[in-house]
Amino acid sequence: MAGEPTRAPVEGPARPGAGVLELRDVTKRYSRDGRAAVDHLSLTVPAGEVCVLIGPSGCGKTTALKMINRLIEPSEGEILIDGHSVRERNPSKLRREIGYVIQQVGLLPHLTVSANVATVPRLLGWEKERTRVRVRELLELVGLDPDEFSGRYPAQLSGGQQQRVGLARALAGDPPVMLMDEPFSAVDPITRERLQNDFLRLHRAVAKTVVFVTHDIDEAVKMGDRIALMREGHLVQYATPAELLAQPADDFVADFVGADRALKSLSLTRVEEISLIPAPLVHVGEPALDARARIDRGEMVPITDHVLVVTEDDRPLDWLPVGRLDDLEQIPPSAPGGAEPVIDQVTTLRDALSALFEANAAYGPVVDDQGRCVGLIGAPEISAGFRRAAGVSTVEVPPSAPATLDAGTGGGGG
Ligand code: ADP
Ligand code: MG
Repeated sequence: MAGEPTRAPVEGPARPGAGVLELRDVTKRYSRDGRAAVDHLSLTVPAGEVCVLIGPSGCGKTTALKMINRLIEPSEGEILIDGHSVRERNPSKLRREIGYVIQQVGLLPHLTVSANVATVPRLLGWEKERTRVRVRELLELVGLDPDEFSGRYPAQLSGGQQQRVGLARALAGDPPVMLMDEPFSAVDPITRERLQNDFLRLHRAVAKTVVFVTHDIDEAVKMGDRIALMREGHLVQYATPAELLAQPADDFVADFVGADRALKSLSLTRVEEISLIPAPLVHVGEPALDARARIDRGEMVPITDHVLVVTEDDRPLDWLPVGRLDDLEQIPPSAPGGAEPVIDQVTTLRDALSALFEANAAYGPVVDDQGRCVGLIGAPEISAGFRRAAGVSTVEVPPSAPATLDAGTGGGGG
């Protein structure tokens, strides 16, 4: 994705179910003579894209967002969805067509999870059965088992689970536009990474135009098709993450992005975009002799003298030293966890590298959305993939090469 953002045409909904969002010279003054909280903000978000609004606290992000669904009325300017001004719309009807997710979630505590998710369908007057089916579908979409979670109350959920319910609720009416105000900033870093990955995957599936507010540049680079950087109510730069990192418009942007721009560009590439090492998989219950034979025939190449024990459906469990294959009859079952870090293929190279360092592991299994191992990744693969994505070097780095993460020569300059 680095350097080649997918650009949907601005004219019409390129992806069905998503809307083009346009802000034209939008200004908000909270008091007649005061400074504008949002000052002549103009930007267009093509249908189906994620636009991240970012900037220091107080720069006008939340104000800008709330003008889109008319929780705040602009003092001047125009906001259009698919060419129609939101001013001509009835505000409560409009809000049913714009999903809204906030940090504090705002679930109703006396209602069950399913009743919370059903808020908009109920307002839209959907039939009971249609609502029931939709709620189950949405809970599955956000990664919550409907049988387990439908009947629970918000207080019985973790922060991350509440955030998932908030997301399901916002998606319920199938809105063409979603507004998300620091949706993942109140959860712990591990949960946040998981929510980000799940959201990215979900966004591929549901095609929504999203405005996503954050103050975290790493989150912006990871989540955004485009980033709008604001300062004191003004738009300073509106660009793809790659452009923002490579060509900050001015010193403010450069400072905001940070000195480690090259390292940050590791977030521009996803694990699934780079070449992985084929994983030496052995299945629980498989005769150890068979595994040994596959190695001897060269069909399977162990990594640092280990093979990866997986379940029948290829979910990573643990590493097994190749030497043990000679003592064993069958590959024994083992509890999951020994193969950490298990890396989601939609995550960024930066997250993957950080997971490897944190676990002090040379390699980690990469898994798809079903948790199935699709390969292995280590620092050398990350370095090589990053260089290729950044167009820095065409020199092949063999998997056995030492990790040379001299990111200083990386893509930041170009
Ligand atoms: P951000 O979300 O980027 O932190 P906000 O949009 O919340 O910024 O705030 C932008 C500016 O508007 C800030 O200076 C803030 O103090 C001011 N502001 C926000 N809400 C109100 C309000 N209801 N009344 C007056 N001023 C406000
Ligand atoms: Mg805010």
